[in-house]
Amino acid sequence: MVALIFAVTFLVIWQRDRARTENLALGSGWALLAAAMLISQLSPASLGRVLVAITHVPYTLAGVCIASGILLRVNTAPPVRLFLSIGLLGSAAMGITQAFGDSIKSDLFITNITSGVIMVLTTQSFATSAKRDGIERFMMVTLILVTTQFFLRPVFAFMFDGPIAPAQYRESTYYLALAWLFGFGSVLFGLAQLTASVKDHVEALNARNATDELSGLLARGEFETQVKAALAKAAKERREVALVVGDLDHFKQVNDIWGHQVGDRAIAGFGAMAGAMIRSSDIAGRVGGEEFCILVWKADEEIAAGLAERLRSRTCDLDISEGALDVRLTASFGVAGWRSGEGYRALFARADKALYAAKQNGRNRVIRADADPECESTGSTQENSAQQTAEIDAAA
Ligand code: GH3
Ligand code: MG
Ligand code: MG
Repeated sequence: MVALIFAVTFLVIWQRDRARTENLALGSGWALLAAAMLISQLSPASLGRVLVAITHVPYTLAGVCIASGILLRVNTAPPVRLFLSIGLLGSAAMGITQAFGDSIKSDLFITNITSGVIMVLTTQSFATSAKRDGIERFMMVTLILVTTQFFLRPVFAFMFDGPIAPAQYRESTYYLALAWLFGFGSVLFGLAQLTASVKDHVEALNARNATDELSGLLARGEFETQVKAALAKAAKERREVALVVGDLDHFKQVNDIWGHQVGDRAIAGFGAMAGAMIRSSDIAGRVGGEEFCILVWKADEEIAAGLAERLRSRTCDLDISEGALDVRLTASFGVAGWRSGEGYRALFARADKALYAAKQNGRNRVIRADADPECESTGSTQENSAQQTAEIDAAA
């Protein structure tokens, strides 16, 4: 029942996101494990040693699937062929002991060692690829426990068993130990895998919310969160930082003349270009429809203005043409160096005011807050909007 519950859970998770094949592998593994356990529990006792040979197949395949799922999750290609070869080798060895041996214990050793070897390889691969956080450690501990029990459980259980008559296999201490360990161990093992899958799912959702799909830059909320943290860090480390705000010029016309799709391509093109031009310590986001913002780390206003100038010049070269259409873009930028003690809102307001000045002074230019005496955060940015609208109309 426990194995079946895990099987269904992983398969449902996989249904929701089919790209995550590890959940399919885990679901199939747990289903095979449930099947193997059901067969061993419900088969007629008269099957004797043949039962061990039959269940060797689903037990081994379950091990291969679960091991593959665990490795796929940490982006490691599972050595499926090697796993299957080990399983086949186990089957061959079991064929020999069943034909020539007379003890069920050798069959049981073989089936345990087969799964044990597969788990040793898995644990080893997992240890080299997994991250070192709490959930991965939990997974590592369960892997080590599961692996060890394959080698120790038969040895200890057989200490309490005399010769096991094949028909009385299910009354042996070995079988009792297997059933109990299976019951408790599988809950722990399955829970580790389930927690890991749920963690992956939540992380993927967070990443989806944090990035703006079209531009590939941070979405506004995430950008502001990261910038606020960066400003606090800058204050603590006494670093200089500066904010660049950029806005594509006459973008409404780009949409009107060439269509929304070309507009979208322009946003994507600008985002990709900006993302490639900044350093990894800078933070870039799309803060409005065609408005972008970059926090430049370890830079004063002049250095940040240099970056803005390079962005401006590259924007003119950005090729978003379609067929015979020759679409050319320009963008305007405002830059403000951070003043110690200043919050994000005030810094943004100064950079935005400089951007506004750039728009008023003919667009396709960079204006620094320091260079414009009117760029104080207390000023209103609304007062010239009528004039700007008239200008756009004239341009159109
Ligand atoms: P200015 O030079 O003064 O910035 O003029 P503008 O036309 O760029 O400014 P305005 O703010 O009037 O227009 C912005 C336009 O951007 C309006 C809106 O339709 C368009 N826009 C906003 N988000 C998107 C988007 O995701 N895709 C596309 N294609 N257009 C967008
Ligand atoms: Mg614009
Ligand atoms: Mg705008």
